[in-house]
Amino acid sequence: MKKMDADVLIIGAGPAGSVAARMLKKLGRQVVILEKEQFPRFSIGESLLPHCMEFLDEADLLGPVAAEGFQLKTGAAFSHAGKLTEFDFSQKSTAGWATTYQVPRARFDQILAEASEDCGVPIHYRHSIVAADFNTPGQTRLTSVDANGVHRDWTASMVMDASGFGRVLPRLLDLETPSSLPPRLALFTHIEDRIAVDGYDRSKILIAIHPKFHEVWYWLIPFSNGRSSLGVVMPMDFLEVRTGNPLDILRELVMEEPRLAELLTESCFDTPANRIGGYSANVKRLYGDGFVLLGNAGEFLDPVFSSGVTIALKSASLAVPLVDRQLCGLPVDWQASYEQILRRGIEVFRAYVEAWYDGRFQRLIFEERQLASIKAMICSILAGFAWDEANPMTQRCGKKIEAITGAYPLL
Ligand SMILES: Cc1cc2nc3c(=O)[nH]c(=O)nc-3n(C[C@H](O)[C@H](O)[C@H](O)COP(=O)(O)OP(=O)(O)OC[C@H]3O[C@@H](n4cnc5c(N)ncnc54)[C@H](O)[C@@H]3O)c2cc1C
Repeated sequence: MKKMDADVLIIGAGPAGSVAARMLKKLGRQVVILEKEQFPRFSIGESLLPHCMEFLDEADLLGPVAAEGFQLKTGAAFSHAGKLTEFDFSQKSTAGWATTYQVPRARFDQILAEASEDCGVPIHYRHSIVAADFNTPGQTRLTSVDANGVHRDWTASMVMDASGFGRVLPRLLDLETPSSLPPRLALFTHIEDRIAVDGYDRSKILIAIHPKFHEVWYWLIPFSNGRSSLGVVMPMDFLEVRTGNPLDILRELVMEEPRLAELLTESCFDTPANRIGGYSANVKRLYGDGFVLLGNAGEFLDPVFSSGVTIALKSASLAVPLVDRQLCGLPVDWQASYEQILRRGIEVFRAYVEAWYDGRFQRLIFEERQLASIKAMICSILAGFAWDEANPMTQRCGKKIEAITGAYPLL
């Protein structure tokens, strides 16, 4: 058999791909990343969760990330109809990291990718994977096409698909299955925020709920350079009654929410708005002979709890030792050691996402009579520790949320 290009081929140099590459390299594996875009490139998903710091640490990436001077993140604030409630991650019940960062992803992803290259992982930019062949036992083959239209085959023992919303192997291998969540739409941009309101805390993401439509919510994620990410999430058909260009519609929607209107009166909306719809996605399974799906290439739920990058890094951390074991010729139970564990945390987030949109979780977080102990457990989930089985709020979550909200008469 012809010598293979690597032990492992990784599709995509986003957070899941770059972190997996660093972790594999530390185990002495030969890795090649094939990335469709040229970095830096825009990506959505700018609010990290403290739990993901553990995985950055595992890949020796805390140093390069800290050196960039990203905006520190200490918690999350929620606003609705004049009410404001805050969660400070230092109050969480789970041990571990209590801070993280708010990051322009173009730069954050570039730092992770460069760190992979620094430790000897070649990244072939502008190489889009268009075909995959898993028919030869022990050898997988990917076909890329570069910016000049040139096709090239790549071989390795294993493939890790970290292609995010590209969802390369789910599409090529017919693994896609509909998400349990209805499709939604997000409209977003970056602004020069010019926030000069007394007491405003830049170190907390602000999630605001539309005063009339509780399924419509906004994010405001301040960066360290005076700019912010600003977005709104809504049902797919919500914009049908609004006309104008996307940035004007976004500004109009923002000014309908009193807290954002107060914070952003002086803001400069200087960048065109983007929209992305129908992003929730799922797959029949997260692994197969010769491949494993990481991050968004597997399941993506919803942006409301900023869980995407944390799930992506958790998937890399779980999969890398299993890939290494398989390369050593040892048996691997992918179902028990990967799929079930990863999905357990995803199910926790799903229960909270569902409770957010049907209004139960919104009631819960604005409840003034909340016990401090329950608030600490909720805070842990908001900090990303969805796999902490010692937290009662990660067990039978739907029922717990119902029981707690039911215990308070409607305000
Ligand atoms: C509206 C919205 C808001 C969000 N906000 C947050 C947030 O605040 N915090 C958070 O943690 N998450 C957030 N997310 C989720 C976040 O964007 C993703 O979960 C995260 O980027 C997943 O990382 P990844 O490494 O799996 O994939 P990605 O970051 O998408 O990286 C995948 C890489 O694969 C490359 N690729 C794609 N196709 C191919 C191909 N054919 N060949 C080669 N390479 C390919 C892409 O160019 C890309 O660089 C949000 C998502 C949405 C939709």
